[in-house]
Amino acid sequence: VSAWSNVPQGPPPGITEAFKADSNPEKINLGVGAYRDDEGNPFVLPSVRTAEKNNVDLSMDKEYAGITGVPAFTKAAALLAYGPDSAPIKEDRIAVTQSISGTGALRIGGAFLERFYPGSKTIYIPSPSWANHTAVFKDSGLKVEKYRYYNKDTIGLDFDGMVGDIKAMPKGSIILLHACAHNPTGVDPTEEQWIAIAEAVKEGGHFPFFDMAYQGFASGDTNKDAFALRYFIKEGLQPVLAQSFAKNMGLYGERVGAFSVVCETAEEKKRVDSQIKILVRPLYSNPPVHGARIASAILNDPALKKQWLGEVKEMADRIITMRALLKGNLEKLGSKHDWSHITSQIGMFAYTGLKPEQVDVLAKEHSVYATRDGRISVAGITTDNVKRLAEAIFKVTG
Ligand code: PLP
Repeated sequence: VSAWSNVPQGPPPGITEAFKADSNPEKINLGVGAYRDDEGNPFVLPSVRTAEKNNVDLSMDKEYAGITGVPAFTKAAALLAYGPDSAPIKEDRIAVTQSISGTGALRIGGAFLERFYPGSKTIYIPSPSWANHTAVFKDSGLKVEKYRYYNKDTIGLDFDGMVGDIKAMPKGSIILLHACAHNPTGVDPTEEQWIAIAEAVKEGGHFPFFDMAYQGFASGDTNKDAFALRYFIKEGLQPVLAQSFAKNMGLYGERVGAFSVVCETAEEKKRVDSQIKILVRPLYSNPPVHGARIASAILNDPALKKQWLGEVKEMADRIITMRALLKGNLEKLGSKHDWSHITSQIGMFAYTGLKPEQVDVLAKEHSVYATRDGRISVAGITTDNVKRLAEAIFKVTG
C-alpha cells in the first residue's frame, strides 16, 4: 500500500472553480483578494513597471541576499510603516527582516513569539479575521483565541465588545490587530476608538501584533493608514509588525513583505536580529530578491515614490467610487435596506450582511460569486457591472 493511503481529502477549492465553469459572459467574480482595474483586469502599477525595467537595465547580479533580505528594501519598508518621525526609527531600535509577503511575515512573527515571548503563548485574533490567521499562528505553535470585533446587527464595529474582551484577557496577552482595512469586514476603528483600544492594551500589559497588509490601500494615504501602529508606539508600546507589499504595490506574486520588532534599545535590536536570522535560516535560508528590489527602487527614489503614492491613491479612490456606485444603485432600485455600511467600510472588501443562502442564490441565478460570509471584493466591481450587480443583490435581498 502507498504511504499516503490514509491521507484525508482536504476541502474542495473555493469559488474560483465554480466561477470558471460558469458560461454566463456577464458573470462577476467578487471572491478574489486582488485589485482589478475598471475593465476587470489585473493591474500592474506603472511605477512598478518603471522600477522593474530600470532594475533590468542595471543588469544586477543574482547573488543570494542576506538572511534578512535586501537591506535597502527593509530599511525603506520600516520607514514607510513607522514614519520618519518615529522614535524607534531615529534611535535605530527596530529589527526588520524581509519576508515572503505578509503571510511569511506573520509566520516569522508567530515563530518568534513562540520561541521568545515571555508570557502566555496564546494570540487573540478578531472575530472574524482573515481566514489564514488561525492556521498561520497554530502552525507557528501558538494557541489561537478570539476577541469580539464585528457586530452583525449594526454591520459595524463591536467596540464595547472588543474593549471588554481586551480588558478580560489575562495580563500580558498577545493581541493581533489589523492596522487598517480589516479583512474580511472592511470595518476599522475610528482614531478615537484606536486611542481607547491602545489604552486598554496598555492597561492589560498586552502585547500588540499589527498586521498591515493594506497600507495606503484603505484611505489612499500611507500615513493615515499607519495611524494605529504609530499611535501605539507614541504611547510607549513596542509592537511587532507584519507588512505586505502585495496590495499597495500590486506585487502579489512577487511575495514582498517585512517583519519587524520594535525594541527598547539598539543593543536589544541586535540580539533580536540575530535570533530572527536563526529562525529564518532553516525555513528558507534567505528571501528572493527580484520583488524586493522593485519595492526598494520605488521607495528609495523620491520621484518614483511620489508616482507610486499617486497610484495607490488611484486604486483606493476607484474602490471608494465603486462602493458609492453600488450603494447608489441599490437605493435607485428602491431597496428598503440600509446600505450605508457599504460606503462606511474601507479597503478591498465589503461585508454586505448577505446570508450564506443569499450568496448561493447570487451565484446560481445571477452568476455573481462571493464568499458565503457575504464578503465581496469591491475591487471586482466596475462601472460596467455595478448596475447588474446591484440588481442581483436587490433581487436576493428583496
Ligand atoms: N493579512 C491580511 C489581513 C490579508 O488580508 C492578507 C492577504 O489577503 C495578508 C495578511 C497576506 O497576504 P500576502 O501574503 O499576499 O502578503
